[in-house]
Amino acid sequence: MNTPEIQAVYDRIKAHSESFLGYPVAKDFSYHEYAPFLDICINNVGDPENPSTFAIDTKDIEQKCIAFFADMLSSNTKDVWGYITNGGTEGNLYGLYVARESFPNAMVYYSESTHYSVKKNLHLLNIPNIVIRSQKNGEMDYEDLDQTISYRRDKPAIFFLNIGTTMTEAIDKIDEIKRIIKKYAIKDYYIHCDAAFLGTIAPYIDPKPKFDFAEGIDSISISGHKFIGSPIPCGAVLVKRKHRDRIANSVSYVGTMDTTITGSRNGLTPLFIWDFIQKHDHQGLKARVTASQEVAAYTEHKLNLLGMNAWRNNDGLTVVFQKPSDALCKKYQMASEETIAHIICVPGVTFSKVDAFLEDLKIELVQKSSSVEALHV
Ligand SMILES: *Cc1c(COP(=O)(O)O)cnc(C)c1O
Repeated sequence: MNTPEIQAVYDRIKAHSESFLGYPVAKDFSYHEYAPFLDICINNVGDPENPSTFAIDTKDIEQKCIAFFADMLSSNTKDVWGYITNGGTEGNLYGLYVARESFPNAMVYYSESTHYSVKKNLHLLNIPNIVIRSQKNGEMDYEDLDQTISYRRDKPAIFFLNIGTTMTEAIDKIDEIKRIIKKYAIKDYYIHCDAAFLGTIAPYIDPKPKFDFAEGIDSISISGHKFIGSPIPCGAVLVKRKHRDRIANSVSYVGTMDTTITGSRNGLTPLFIWDFIQKHDHQGLKARVTASQEVAAYTEHKLNLLGMNAWRNNDGLTVVFQKPSDALCKKYQMASEETIAHIICVPGVTFSKVDAFLEDLKIELVQKSSSVEALHV
């Protein structure tokens, strides 16, 4: 590398990525074959289905990725449209944006376990919204939603559902939402699913949670740099075609439709995602999910043997347990909230990495109990 300074940056990131257990990003990828692309301009500006006069894009590949995701989410590119985003937040912003264009007077309902970026998105879009209480496991409290809606049944409703919350991987139940919609005879409603983490996992879980276009959702945000893995954050948003058509307008400067949030868009990330899809396909993804579930089950079991009150939602990859010391959270880069922490068993979090953490934890627990005993002497 060019300078010792930049080499040090590389070494630092490499060392830090060895040990993290608490964030949902896979690290078993390698895209160095794509290095030649780093020496050319690439830009997917505008609508992925509309060529721009600025013709240095990977939109053909981007469309193939979207077609794969549409199929994965029980739909097809005749009914849904989408693009490769910069990550989960952009996909959620997009879903809320087209939702507001459909129902300008709507109220947004979302649970208190929702990702922190959603509040900001709602602020940017200036949409009225109400936070619904969560159950202990992180799932929306449907009783609270029911009561909240009962006072506002005249208003169009935008339901922002979590398909895997950030902290506990809880899944909001679409059947409960439909029950409430029916109970109050709400005519104008929109359902967006935040499946940033579980988007490429839930389709392969048995039994499969209800969350995709087969359930009549309007839009969904999934990520690319989490379970699939990428050196650059990325994701995909898919929406029913009518929602995209409502906001589309043509821009002569770039000769394409301005249907995306940003103008210039990343053309490299579609190549990475497509590379993954070609190597893995649905079968490979299913095997990847099963292998990750095995690590998660092991981690949960071992933590419980140490008395750490570990649990998981829906045989998921997120193992929630009693928060260990700040030092351990820092060493293994584990997010914590109040009294809980989590290990997210994505590819790259191996049995041996979990074992290394468990060894450290054991030492800490022994020290703690001997100091407690010392107090009692
Ligand atoms: C990661 C995540 C997000 C945010 O995604 P970014 O790619 O960081 O923008 C939003 N919601 C959920 C549930 C997530 O797990």
